[in-house]
Amino acid sequence: MDADDFEKHGIEMVRYIAQYMRTLPQRSVTSDVEPGYMRNMLPSHAPIHAENFQDIMADVEKIIMPGVTHWQHPEFHAYFPAGNSFPSILGDMLSNAIGCVGFSWAASPACTELEILVLDWIGKLINLPSVFLHEGGQGGGVIQGSASECVLVTLLASRHAAIQLVKPYPYIDDGYVLSKLVAYSSKLAHSCVEKAGMIGLVKMRQLDVDENYSLRGYTLERAIEEDRRMGLIPFYVVATLGTTGCCSFDNVEELGEVCSKEGVWLHVDAAYAGNALICPEFQHLTKGVQNASSINFNPNKWMLVNFDCSLMWVRDRKALTSALTVDPVYLQHEHDDKELDFRHWGIPLSRRFRSLKLWFVLRCYGVEGLQKYIRRHVRLAKAFEEHVRNDDIFDVIGEVTMGLVCFRLKGPNTLTQRLLKKINSSHQLHMVPALVNENFVIRFAICAENADEKDISFAWKVITEAAECLMSSKSELERPGGLERIETLEMSETESEDEVFDRELFDTDLIFDQQRITLRRACERRNLFHRMVSDPKGFNRTVLKALSIDGQRKIRSESDLEDDAADAVRTTIKKTSAGAESSQDCV
Ligand code: PLP
Repeated sequence: MDADDFEKHGIEMVRYIAQYMRTLPQRSVTSDVEPGYMRNMLPSHAPIHAENFQDIMADVEKIIMPGVTHWQHPEFHAYFPAGNSFPSILGDMLSNAIGCVGFSWAASPACTELEILVLDWIGKLINLPSVFLHEGGQGGGVIQGSASECVLVTLLASRHAAIQLVKPYPYIDDGYVLSKLVAYSSKLAHSCVEKAGMIGLVKMRQLDVDENYSLRGYTLERAIEEDRRMGLIPFYVVATLGTTGCCSFDNVEELGEVCSKEGVWLHVDAAYAGNALICPEFQHLTKGVQNASSINFNPNKWMLVNFDCSLMWVRDRKALTSALTVDPVYLQHEHDDKELDFRHWGIPLSRRFRSLKLWFVLRCYGVEGLQKYIRRHVRLAKAFEEHVRNDDIFDVIGEVTMGLVCFRLKGPNTLTQRLLKKINSSHQLHMVPALVNENFVIRFAICAENADEKDISFAWKVITEAAECLMSSKSELERPGGLERIETLEMSETESEDEVFDRELFDTDLIFDQQRITLRRACERRNLFHRMVSDPKGFNRTVLKALSIDGQRKIRSESDLEDDAADAVRTTIKKTSAGAESSQDCV
């Protein structure tokens, strides 16, 4: 394909995309294909000879589209929004055309410089303390591929800082410190936090939340105290602003105070809700962020930027880069600056020119346009919440502050599961569930860029019709005292809460029929590994003895080691990372 062909087919492609967006409501939001559907529709080997562009496009409609879940569809209310807009698509087209790999400043100066600039713009917009900015601060922002990566790299940075602290004590092995490290999050934190702990080989404690599903300072403080008493070394905490399950908010102010006092790295994961911080009325949610070491949010969720674009700021860029810097000769350059070559800020070497799409979005919408978009979504969520609250067969779970409403049918979890299954299988709406404490809830997220009141009314109509149908067809309910009987059946005296939970979650007749077994196996595997990593008993005297019999490192006594390591770690982390220098940093 030469430039002329590209121009011709490019115009066709842009027309196809514009038409796809315009006619989305005429498509079914989810597809009803079966796993493996594509195998029979495409050849089993790659084409040997070049094919015609028109033929490829014809197959897009015939083969690809039937299996697409339309995330930009007005009736898509699952997960969180997948950011998307025309300016972002155009910015990304340009980035693809430039096709640079911006791992260092020299590899393509504009790629690094624009990233620095827009990260500072947005940092100021969300009112981050100036220490987090490139401009004048010791920190700075960077674009990562996902919130999961942000959590992982900050965990790795804080782990590195903790291990570094024992360097003056040559008889303490890095591995020994690693075995003592313990990190914390609320039990409602995203699963990527647990995954980061697994990858980082550190113990991860998931702490209880209060009645507002918020992790509080006193809970963290107690956990840290308990763990220090056991000889463990607390080093990393994740506070979530906008949990995935129910969009609740951990108390950053309280957690920040504890982390600052204890010399522990506090990371704030605001993957979805952080986007709303561009509106001043939501900025109180980050009160205390001056005590955090790092924060992230994803414009590719709720700021009209296409995947991937997760923004992360650190207060001390050295603390990050010193954990991630390797420097072969072939990557060094004349203007080498370890702190500004973004390959040292994350896991991959290669980096796309992602700031372009963000820059296009910021310029095409302006801050005002983006604020208007966020506020409309919040208003629509409130309108949906009102429908739910006005119908007494439903409960709203959690507070509705952003664009997410969590609700359930009163009664046992199975009722809500059946309702969700019924709605999703109608392909009229798409929503996904969550488990919020013991409640199985349906999450209704406002996702489409131009969502409006009509979409809310339509969704509510589909939901209430399905609920009525479910209630009237439920044979148990037709008999006297049906609902009460189901409620008491929910947990018999001999059954543990876990068994009930399990039975309900994995009921063969209910949702996820096909994925149930795989999902369960994955959970079991994960739990086993998680237990191996997290169980402090795994680090017992026998293991330690075995480690020291090579005669190289004579451990004086276990308690000496614990004291030395814990003291060293506490002092250095305080110096290197979390310590809130001052609250005058606020811009
Ligand atoms: N953190 C939170 C609070 C989330 O809601 C999500 C995803 O929804 C993630 C992290 C993971 O995001 P990513 O897919 O960017 O890794």
